Amino acid sequence: MDENQSYRKSSENNAVFDTSKSLLQEIPGHFHQKANVRLWVKRDDLIDPEVSGNKWRKLALNVVLAQHQRKEGILTFGGAYSNHLLATASACSRVGLKSIGIVRGEELTAASNPNLRRCAELGMDLIFISRTQYDCRCEASETEMWKARYASYLLVPEGGANYHGMIGCQEIMQELPFTADHVFLAQGTTATSCGVLVSLPEKAVLHAVPVLKGFDTLAEMRALLLPVLLDAETVDDYLKQVVVHSDAHFGGYGKWTSDLEQFIYKVRQAINLPLDKIYTGKAFYALMQWLEKTDFTEPVHVVFIHTGGLLNG
Ligand SMILES: *Cc1c(COP(=O)(O)O)cnc(C)c1O
Repeated sequence: MDENQSYRKSSENNAVFDTSKSLLQEIPGHFHQKANVRLWVKRDDLIDPEVSGNKWRKLALNVVLAQHQRKEGILTFGGAYSNHLLATASACSRVGLKSIGIVRGEELTAASNPNLRRCAELGMDLIFISRTQYDCRCEASETEMWKARYASYLLVPEGGANYHGMIGCQEIMQELPFTADHVFLAQGTTATSCGVLVSLPEKAVLHAVPVLKGFDTLAEMRALLLPVLLDAETVDDYLKQVVVHSDAHFGGYGKWTSDLEQFIYKVRQAINLPLDKIYTGKAFYALMQWLEKTDFTEPVHVVFIHTGGLLNG
């Protein structure tokens, strides 16, 4: 664990991205109208417009690792609208690392959308591959191929979903000035959820809101947690603290309805909280639904982690 300590120290010294900008916004009781509930939003979206939310949490230690290993840059993967690609391009350009983005879709170019354009502008080299090849990105032969071809780059999986990404997300909970009873967040790869889960008090509940349809949250989390916690029983113990809200995906990844758009508009008007349509809008919606149908006999502290995503959604 000494190694982690030193990564953490170096990430704290990295003043480019100041996580103290992540304020805790209390949502007034008249908005949720629930007795015994105090609700806060942990505004990680305020860390930086481009390296926003959980993306900096997941990149922080990967950037330090790349610097530590004297790599030239970071090579990573994402879709055309990936917040993670943009965050990687932006973070790397500001700390003096190069970046390569492997993008899903061979028909695309750097001019296909504003997200890719901005990545290219920040100096990211974009390599477009077919969906079939992209879907194999986690296979050993594929990762070995990319590693061999770009040996001077640190390979970071899609969404920053590796050990270092997960560990970086532990810091979110450590910044809270109180103990949370319930934590809500939107879920893609589950790296953020895993980092938050292992830093959660034993009695607290993690509410995961997958934005993909038919997503197996517990299986995905198990796969990420096992190499860290080392034994399956410990992993299952942790997973008992997870509640999955699997019906708030609004049709699946990248899909939404006018109801969701209206909800996002209403929240912005009422409590000045900006949400995106791909991730945080869905998760905040699930939180409101859950509050509505749950009665609290004891006072509870509920925290919604705002994972960012406002530029692309
Ligand atoms: C990437 C992203 C997520 C998903 O985080 P995971 O760690 O992959 O589960 C959630 N919210 C926003 C806004 C994101 O950009």
